[in-house]
Amino acid sequence: MKNIIFIAPPAAGKGTQSSYLVKKYGYVHVSTGDMLREAIASGSELGNRVKNIIDQGLLVSDDIMIDLIKDKLTSIKGKPFILDGFPRTLNQAKALNEMFLNLNIDNYVAIYLEITKKLAMERSLGRVTCEKCGTGFNKYSVEKMPKKEGICDKCGGNLISRTDDNEESFNKRFDTFIKNNESIIEFYKDLNRLEIISANCTSIPTFEGIVKVIND
Ligand code: AMP
Repeated sequence: MKNIIFIAPPAAGKGTQSSYLVKKYGYVHVSTGDMLREAIASGSELGNRVKNIIDQGLLVSDDIMIDLIKDKLTSIKGKPFILDGFPRTLNQAKALNEMFLNLNIDNYVAIYLEITKKLAMERSLGRVTCEKCGTGFNKYSVEKMPKKEGICDKCGGNLISRTDDNEESFNKRFDTFIKNNESIIEFYKDLNRLEIISANCTSIPTFEGIVKVIND
């Protein structure tokens, strides 16, 4: 089973696909967005430094992100992992390559989840998460709609939106992704590690495509 680097615009379904992969194969899910949100919620120094940047839909600096991932990869060494949200710049991709060489990680694939901006925006603006148990739902998706509006199906907790899931922030995040994406895609293509899978569909066909690629 290969380690996975997800390269995908916001709301392409990285989180959903990661949860399927964790459940079925026991991957460690490394989401840089979650790590930063946890830092903000805990009121740590890192959290205070990145809060405004995230709320505006901008990117946190490469130095901060590279240190964060370096620590994480060192601590989970040996277990299969999914990188969700890293790398987001060519600099980060190059630094990750260095880390892989140093940690002897060679069994990996970069999966590009391709999605149209229109569909990604719809998913982003409909996305809600249970504040109690963290389960994700989507107000605009037949597949992931909560049974009762605003209430978690699993534990009855309140469903809340991320502060950066608004139209302005979404536009900025999507456009930044497209701007940085080309060079990252080229980078992994040159390394012969790139697989492109469509996310312009429900989550199951996308998952099947991923399963095929990680077991190849
Ligand atoms: P995500 O949950 O992956 O959409 O990330 C939420 C926000 O966290 C992004 O919009 C960025 O502000 C920040 N972030 C997460 N990962 C990175 C990264 N690799 N580089 C820079 N900023 C990041």
